[in-house]
Amino acid sequence: MKNDTRSKIMSAIPSKDTSIELSVRKYLFKNGFRFRKNDSRYPGKPDILLPKYKVAIFVNGCFWHGHGCANDRKPKTNIAYWQNKIQNNIARDLKNRIELKNMGFKVITIWECELMDNPTERLERLIKEILDTR
Ligand SMILES: [Zn+2]
Repeated sequence: MKNDTRSKIMSAIPSKDTSIELSVRKYLFKNGFRFRKNDSRYPGKPDILLPKYKVAIFVNGCFWHGHGCANDRKPKTNIAYWQNKIQNNIARDLKNRIELKNMGFKVITIWECELMDNPTERLERLIKEILDTR
């Protein structure tokens, strides 16, 4: 496949949507939590890392991270290409989780679809999950 064709496909697919990460960060900040963003010193550069609570948070797009939910719509073309790409993402996510856990972090994953369904409920639960580790 030609490169311009591929980039056309890439742009047609909702990429890792930073707006969902932003909404989670905003909510935590408003509630007094301070955190690091995409800190490359930690496995997988967690979207949000709360050193004080030893919590790492990943905000995952359902397609890119292979959630398998209704929101995870696979493309109809180049199926092998996407399958391979997403399988690699899943494997990398798992490896990062294990490494973070070994470093003493609790790892929380927030899925894009959870924020679509009921963002308030999910974000309130997130705070409980963070505080639970103390
Ligand atoms: Zn999902």
